[in-house]
Amino acid sequence: MAKIKAIRGMNDILPDQSPIWQHLERTVGRVLRGYGYQEIRMPIVEQTELFKRSIGEVTDIVEKEMYTFDDRNGDSLTLRPEGTAGCVRAGEEHGLLFNQTRKLWYAGPMFRHERPQKGRYRQFHQIGVECFGMNGPDIDAELLIMTARLWKELGLGEHVRLEINSIGTSESRKAFRAALVDYLSGFRDQLDEDSKRRLETNPLRILDSKVPETQAILKDAPDLAEFLDEDSRAHFVGLQQRLDLADVPYTINSRLVRGLDYYGKTVFEWVTESLGAQGTVCAGGRYDGLVEQLGGKSTPAVGFAMGIERLVLMLDTLGVVPQTVNSDADLYVMGMGEAGEADALRVSEMLRDAMPERIIMTHCGGGSFKSQMKKADRSGARFGLLIGEDEVASRTVSVKPLRSEGEQRSVDQADLAATVAELLG
Ligand code: ATP
Ligand code: MG
Repeated sequence: MAKIKAIRGMNDILPDQSPIWQHLERTVGRVLRGYGYQEIRMPIVEQTELFKRSIGEVTDIVEKEMYTFDDRNGDSLTLRPEGTAGCVRAGEEHGLLFNQTRKLWYAGPMFRHERPQKGRYRQFHQIGVECFGMNGPDIDAELLIMTARLWKELGLGEHVRLEINSIGTSESRKAFRAALVDYLSGFRDQLDEDSKRRLETNPLRILDSKVPETQAILKDAPDLAEFLDEDSRAHFVGLQQRLDLADVPYTINSRLVRGLDYYGKTVFEWVTESLGAQGTVCAGGRYDGLVEQLGGKSTPAVGFAMGIERLVLMLDTLGVVPQTVNSDADLYVMGMGEAGEADALRVSEMLRDAMPERIIMTHCGGGSFKSQMKKADRSGARFGLLIGEDEVASRTVSVKPLRSEGEQRSVDQADLAATVAELLG
C-alpha cells in the first residue's frame, strides 16, 4: 500500500535536530524572563475575521497565504499565520491590556500557504514578543537591545544586522502613498505584475519588491522619511539615540515597510547574509492602532516575531551549537532472566529518585547478554548496570565501566546510588 507522506512545506523535526531547537528555546526563554516577560499561549485556530481585520485585507498573508476553512458549524476559521492578532485578541478578552503595561511572549507553529523553499515553509515556528501600554521609544529600544543580547548569547552576534525605519502615522503614510502612486504611475508599464496590482491595492508594499527592474524604478521614488509627522520623527530620533547609547549598531532603511497593515512608527528587521534569499530572522514594529481596531481601548503596543527555522538553520550552518546539548545516556541498566529484568526496573527507579538530572536507560525487550551489552554501548552510557540471578539473590548490582578500562565491581544495592553518583562525578 502507498505510504502516506507529510504535507508539503510541513516538516517533522527529528531527534537529531531537536537539541538545537531546545537550546534555542531555552536561551530565548532565559533572556525574555530576564527582562520581565510572561508567557501566553493562544489557540492555533482563530476566527478568520480576526486576521482580516488586523493584518489587512490586501496583504500577501490575507490575500493568498491563509489556511481558511469552514468548521462543522459553518464558521470561517483560520490556522494562525502569525501571533500578534491572537495575542491582542486574548489580552483584550481577559482584561490584560487596559490601563496597564504588559510584556508577553509566545512560541508555536504558524501557517502560511507559501512556496516552500529553504527557510520558507507552510508550517513554521515563531517566538513572538508583544509589549502593551508603553508609547515611548524607550521600549522600542529595549526590545532591540534585548534581541541584540539574545544573538550574542546564541553566538550569532557577528552574523546578523539590524535595519530600522519609521513608517509614521496612517495620515503621514496616506500623503506618502499619494506621492508614491503619482510617481510610480509614470512607470506603470515597466512594473512587475505584482507591483502593478499593488499600485491599486497596497502601493507601499511595492517598496520591498524583490524584482530588480522595479527596484531600479524605485531609486528616484519619493522618500517616506520626508513625509513623517513631527511625533513620529521625534520618536524615531529617540530610538536612534538610545540604540547609539547602548552600542547596538543599525542601519536606516527607508524602504523597509513590513507586510502587515497594523504597523506604524517604528519598524525593524534583523537580517543575515548566511541564509541566502530568506535572510530575515526577526521582524517587528510598533502597532499603536491595533488594539482599538480590534474593539479595545486605544493602547500603544510594539513587538516582534522571530523565525525559529531560520535561526536553527543559522545555528546549524555556522556550527555554533554548544556541545552540552547531548542526549547520551549516563547509565544503562540491564536485567537477565525474569527476576533480574523485574529488578532492573525497580533499581532504575531508585536511581532516578536519587539523581533526577541523569539519563538512565533501562533495557527493555529481552535478548542475550551480548545483545544487551551492544545496546548499552550504543546508548553512550558510561556505566552498564547488570542484574542477574546472583545479583537478585545477594541484593547487589554489577557495575561495569563502558567508556574506560577498569574492573567490573559488585555494589550493594543499598550503596548503589552513592557509588554511582561518585563514579559519574
Ligand atoms: P518574509 O519577508 O521572509 O516573507 P515576513 O515579513 O512575511 O517574512 P513576518 O510575518 O514578519 O515575516 O514574520 C516574522 C518572521 O517569521 C520572519 O522574519 C521569518 O523569520 C519568519 N517567517 C515568516 N514566514 C515564514 C515562513 N513561511 N517560513 C519560515 N519562517 C517564516
Ligand atoms: Mg512573507
